[in-house]
Amino acid sequence: MRYRTLGSTSLSVSVIGFGASPLGNVFSPVPRADDAALVGRAVDAGINFFDVSPYYGAGLAEERLGAALAPYRKNVVLATKCGRNGADQFDFSAKGITASLEASLRRLKTDVVDLIQAHDIEFGDIDQVIDETIPALLALKQQGKARTVGITGYWPGLLARVVSEAPVDTVLNYCHWNLFSDDMDAALSPVAERRGIGLINASPLHMGILGGVTLPEWHPAPPAVRAAGAQVVSFCRSSGVDPATLSIWACLQHPSVASTLMGFAGVEQVDSACAALDFAPNALVLQKVRRLVAPVHNTSWPQGRPENEDIGRVLAVSEEDDIKVTKA
Ligand code: NAD
Repeated sequence: MRYRTLGSTSLSVSVIGFGASPLGNVFSPVPRADDAALVGRAVDAGINFFDVSPYYGAGLAEERLGAALAPYRKNVVLATKCGRNGADQFDFSAKGITASLEASLRRLKTDVVDLIQAHDIEFGDIDQVIDETIPALLALKQQGKARTVGITGYWPGLLARVVSEAPVDTVLNYCHWNLFSDDMDAALSPVAERRGIGLINASPLHMGILGGVTLPEWHPAPPAVRAAGAQVVSFCRSSGVDPATLSIWACLQHPSVASTLMGFAGVEQVDSACAALDFAPNALVLQKVRRLVAPVHNTSWPQGRPENEDIGRVLAVSEEDDIKVTKA
């Protein structure tokens, strides 16, 4: 395993992180009896960064991860979230997120999390996120219930705006830097780099598409993206390449992402991700994969409040604009 420092924090995280949403059965049922072996395999492989949320299975993923991680808790970096409680349930108020973290700590069987993140901020009122949610997260840090604070979400431009205006330690973006997309770099990565904010990339398989798994009903990707993904999977398999290994390998090439979070539902998926650490793709295979995804490159889908999507779609945040915001 390789490790990187998470922005300006003192946390050292594995470049492949364990995304625990599958433990909430969000993609498909994952047998609870497998939890200890799954988490144990990840720890044995050197994975020390674990990410979860109360939203994943309405507390189920936190409960399962808390139990499976208990023997390793002191040696891992544990991140959870707050603010999103259901598909359409959000509470970014100070009171709501404080109560949410208390409940998470109980489920995770720990006194402190290493990272608490406001979850999917594009669904919130952005002024509230900046003026109320993040100050409340910082108060929880002050009280010793979280070591660092961050935000997560879908739109790189929206995340860039918030990290330019509020003192967070980390930012997590998903489905915007993998074989399908690279527009996280147009808006977010440079701002995070300039500010020393830990950059976390999630969903290397575009939420399962590049793994070739049956997609859940809620999956938001448009048909053309799914079809291109199916072509990539089938081409990779016929070329003797594991599409999941190739996909995470591509994400590991990012120069400033501290960790790429992958959702694991079985020990073989941990193995296939970790195989990317020593992987060298055939140039012709990679070229063909890039050609297959080219027609849908950087395709996004509606997510969150329309007014936030408008901010989120503004891609380039120039260094000059970023500095202007700082000085204002
Ligand atoms: P992902 O791209 O990692 O895909 C996960 C899916 O792919 C699961 O169904 C999993 O079983 C399957 N998979 C994994 N390895 C595979 C393999 N080798 N072969 C075939 N299928 C495989 O997407 P994700 O789970 O959405 O993202 C990873 C993690 O990132 C999440 O669990 C979560 O912790 C985090 N995340 C956070 C946010 C947010 O905060 N807004 C959003 C998305 C993801």
